[in-house]
Amino acid sequence: MMNTQDKNKLIKQIEQRVIFLKQELLANDSLSVKKQIQSDDSSANLDLTIGAPVDETVYAGHRKELAELVKSFEWLNSEDAGYCELCGNTIPVARLEVVPHSRSCIECAAKQH
Ligand SMILES: [Zn+2]
Repeated sequence: MMNTQDKNKLIKQIEQRVIFLKQELLANDSLSVKKQIQSDDSSANLDLTIGAPVDETVYAGHRKELAELVKSFEWLNSEDAGYCELCGNTIPVARLEVVPHSRSCIECAAKQH
């Protein structure tokens, strides 16, 4: 079993990242509202066409990361926390800090490539 101190550290790290991502997504939502209001102006529509794809890529990435973090959070609170899903060995905490959504140890991850 993963030690409580390491687990709490990871949970805290995930929580902070989740808060950050939610704020970013919220900022994007209010931006969309602003764009809709401006859409009567044809010049604003032109700006929107240029700007939109970049925003969507960034925020789609945020949403994906947020979903992964929520899964990591649930995993950390389960009995499988900290174990490689392929070989059952303990995943080093240092690895989880860098890649919070990783579910395999370094050896297994290397074999998959
Ligand atoms: Zn493994």
